[in-house]
Amino acid sequence: MVADGLLQRGTVTPLAGNPRAFGGPSGPIVLAVDIGGTKMEAGIVDGDGRILARERTITPATPDPEPVFDALSRVVSELLARSPVAPSVCGVGCGGPMEAAGSTVSPLNIHGWRRFPLRDRLTDLVGLDVFVDNDAKALALAEGWTGAARGSADYVALVVSTGIGGGVVLDGRLLDGAGGNAGHIGHVVVEPDGRPCACGGRGCLEAEVSGTAIAAVTGRPAAEADEGMRRRCGTFVGRAVASVANLLDLQLAVVAGSVALGYGNDFLRAAQSEIDLRCGLDFARTTRILRGGLGADGPLVGAAAVARHRAVVVAGSGVVEDGGR
Ligand SMILES: [Zn+2]
Repeated sequence: MVADGLLQRGTVTPLAGNPRAFGGPSGPIVLAVDIGGTKMEAGIVDGDGRILARERTITPATPDPEPVFDALSRVVSELLARSPVAPSVCGVGCGGPMEAAGSTVSPLNIHGWRRFPLRDRLTDLVGLDVFVDNDAKALALAEGWTGAARGSADYVALVVSTGIGGGVVLDGRLLDGAGGNAGHIGHVVVEPDGRPCACGGRGCLEAEVSGTAIAAVTGRPAAEADEGMRRRCGTFVGRAVASVANLLDLQLAVVAGSVALGYGNDFLRAAQSEIDLRCGLDFARTTRILRGGLGADGPLVGAAAVARHRAVVVAGSGVVEDGGR
């Protein structure tokens, strides 16, 4: 295993070395694991981001940590038993928050896991090096690798779903922050007198636009929201993106997730209009928001990208695969 210190603080390294240093276009075969509050999925992902095999299961709703890990163990073991090739490393995308670079995880939507030692438990199970990161940061890496941000060194990726997550790639590097939690765009304030947020604040993007928030406001499932609500959600997402674009000098936002994708063009047009309204500085004026390019494959490709990315970081280059060219 790699020393924790490297994983915690080694990501902001000089932009040096070969971005394809770890495996290049035909990189390692990765055992990719996506852990969410409603489902868990494992896949075998090749060096070009193709999913060769996959298995999924329901995430048990229980306050006991072991049944959740047992279900994960079964799905991983079943996948490995029928995999056409043997993976050489394991990458994991998991809901946050997490501690010590993913050594332990406390996903808000998995009540049984609080400081659960996911990395060590998976290492014991599969016998590979295991790299864990936030699922939205994983998606950001995936979009830069084979998705809508491919070829871009500066972008933010958002997942607008039951909750809202995000990840930022700047100067070709995934931002981690002091605790690995950089990119929490769900808690950018978009409506100062808005709804109370689970974080203790008010009017956060997540409090206004998450599937949970929309259902609470409308009294109906988020998927049934009318055009006015879809546009309102787009406006708020555009407002948050504009703040990020102005702050970080990036000109691309990629948005995925069941709410954002389900709301389609009404949502995206409203988001772009708000960005245009609020990005008036010369460097920010060309900021665009695009639909994510990976659909249902995003989480597994993201988990694989976590393993590729962390291995590159440890090798001494912090450059995101392909996104750093
Ligand atoms: Zn908040």
